[in-house]
Amino acid sequence: MNILILGGGGREHALAWAISQNPKCDRLFCAPGNAGIAEIAECVRIDPEDSADVIAFAGEHAIDFVVIGPEAPLAAGVADELRDAGYLTFGPSKAAAQVEASKAFTKELCDAAGAPTAAYARFTDAAPAKEYIAAQGAPIVIKADGLAAGKGVTVAMDEATALTAIDDCFSGAFGAAGAEVVIEEFMDGEEVSLFVLTDGTAMLPLASAQDHKRAFDGDEGPNTGGMGAYSPAPVLTQELLDQAMSRIVAPCLAELRDRSTPFSGVLYAGLMIQNGQARLVEYNARFGDPECQLLMARMGAQALDLLIATAEGNLAEAKVAWADDHAITVVLAARGYPGSYAKGEDIGLPDLTGQPLVQIFHAGTKDVEGQLVSNGGRVLAVTARGDTLRAARDLAYSVVERIDWPGGFYRTDIGWRAL
Ligand code: AMP
Repeated sequence: MNILILGGGGREHALAWAISQNPKCDRLFCAPGNAGIAEIAECVRIDPEDSADVIAFAGEHAIDFVVIGPEAPLAAGVADELRDAGYLTFGPSKAAAQVEASKAFTKELCDAAGAPTAAYARFTDAAPAKEYIAAQGAPIVIKADGLAAGKGVTVAMDEATALTAIDDCFSGAFGAAGAEVVIEEFMDGEEVSLFVLTDGTAMLPLASAQDHKRAFDGDEGPNTGGMGAYSPAPVLTQELLDQAMSRIVAPCLAELRDRSTPFSGVLYAGLMIQNGQARLVEYNARFGDPECQLLMARMGAQALDLLIATAEGNLAEAKVAWADDHAITVVLAARGYPGSYAKGEDIGLPDLTGQPLVQIFHAGTKDVEGQLVSNGGRVLAVTARGDTLRAARDLAYSVVERIDWPGGFYRTDIGWRAL
């Protein structure tokens, strides 16, 4: 098969790494890709959100399968247009991707499906939103309705913060994404992510993971796209997994099916666990980054077969052959991230020949005349496997310490909850 991956972050490098090892993969392309992906795939300069360009490229290169990594092309309807043009595609339709693109959509979906989640109210004006906050009190959670690159959520521990978040949303801090605001009950507990492949009907839970959103050790500092993660997450016991599948994921997928907008792809359920109960925090319509690095590292080449089965609607018979292993990923980011940071700094990577249990996945990197340089906020994700989480952790950090990039930083406590 000739395969095209859309995206160019650590998630897409991990997808490319797993897919390229499967004998079904002949030629592998990635748009736009990055310096790490360029070592295993042909990177092409196409905007992944421009469906006309993507379809033209697919036609010229006899593409058999398209895998969509990030949320933006999904929200733009690129999966629909590819399927309409006859291409086998991994990734939900624009209608089903609403589970990520609109917080209000997901809250109403949960209501219709009877799925447990935080109580909420929706607002399109500041004044009634502020009255609601005054009546509810803090802590309380303010969410811009639309896609805001992970920045649209404020968990306000006091009322003043909540009111500022309302002003930010309605003054256009998140553009059109903030034209509607969802205000939610604050849920206490432990968060865990669950990844479920679904072809619209059949469901295949992949694995759980826990990520680390704050920039610095001890969960200090600003929120980021994710500074590291590990899988599996012991907090999601088999009992809680069964509960989350039967009370949250299955009824929501059934509701989408009943509306004639079945979800086909990977459903990423962010869950809050408290007192033996799972409640939904949010859905995403794609793999997490950096959680995808863990899943791909743990699944390897078979991931391609599963993505194809999902896209073809043949997931009912599919199974994952898990090694009984653990994976951890440590993100190296540019100093200053998630604020402003420098680009174009030289990076020296260690030689990992003979170390199959560890990979350095690239996110924001670029090759400038043979020299690897930084080209984004999150730059590398060192991903290791082991028989235990501790072994995986020790291996990952031993490689992190061998990376020569003075302008980078990383958290030293990834996995602390489980360890
Ligand atoms: P979301 O983009 O909806 O996942 O929100 C980002 C983060 O905000 C989540 O990962 C949680 O840590 C936190 N969060 C969102 N909603 C709630 C809630 N209702 N209660 C507590 N924390 C929340």
